[in-house]
Amino acid sequence: MAKQIDLDFRCISIDVEEYFQIETVYDVIGPDRWDEWPSRVVEQVDVLLELFDGYGQKGTFFILGSVAQKHGGMVRRISDAGHEIASHGTMHDRLHRLGRRGFMEDLLRSKQILEDLCGEEVVGYRAPTFSIMRETAWAIDVLCECGFRYDSSIFPVVHNRYGVPSAPADPYFVVGECGGELLEVPPLTWRVGKRKLAVAGGGYFRMLPLWLMKLGLKQASKEGRPGVLYFHPWEFDADIPRMPLGFLSRLRTYMGLSRSVGKLDQIAGSGGVWCPIRNRLEGLMAGADGRERFVLCEAD
Ligand SMILES: [Zn+2]
Repeated sequence: MAKQIDLDFRCISIDVEEYFQIETVYDVIGPDRWDEWPSRVVEQVDVLLELFDGYGQKGTFFILGSVAQKHGGMVRRISDAGHEIASHGTMHDRLHRLGRRGFMEDLLRSKQILEDLCGEEVVGYRAPTFSIMRETAWAIDVLCECGFRYDSSIFPVVHNRYGVPSAPADPYFVVGECGGELLEVPPLTWRVGKRKLAVAGGGYFRMLPLWLMKLGLKQASKEGRPGVLYFHPWEFDADIPRMPLGFLSRLRTYMGLSRSVGKLDQIAGSGGVWCPIRNRLEGLMAGADGRERFVLCEAD
């Protein structure tokens, strides 16, 4: 029988990257053109740090190594404010593009950059565009080999670019292609019947009514599951430059930006205990230990 462990907490996680590094614009603005766009991440992160401070809460910041390298002071400010520093890789490449060896290089580089800046071991990882899926199950083995203690990249939903719909909504141990086992702390979903709906953040947060996220959080709390939410610094900046995008991508990227701060205020005001994932690792592992292992390369 699973042990009774209190995992009723919320984590606001932030994937720290520039607005022009998102997957939607990868074909239009690749890494070779990043320098052509004005950087805004430092100011955006300062806005978030102020919000967190006002809420009296701490979160987990999954930071892109290439951004950390350019803005070391920003990383130190996040760390000094008591938030968890975790890795979002170095170059924001989907794992499918990197392959196993490329992923290991990208991952280790980000870990080194972040640890040099914050002086603490980096133990958490989130893949760009949630790209740990059945076909990239080797990533779990690589994360274990590189000393990571948890991952938060397997989104148990249906989506055209990511998702493992059959993956659990509760934290669990995921098994990689070569048998590596790692704690997986999935983003929040709201279960309706047999389906799990994405309500954890990003475009869902900006475009959908907030009561969906609140219902997801309420359900998770009732069932003793952590409510892991995710946001990007650029989502709180209504003035990000307009990029050359098609109609749908433009909608996905720019919709709801001006309402984000107010919505986050409402979420923060809706109670619950908030903390970085790293602070709850022991409880998360003990809880996951009582559940069946999830073999990623055999997932539906
Ligand atoms: Zn990202």
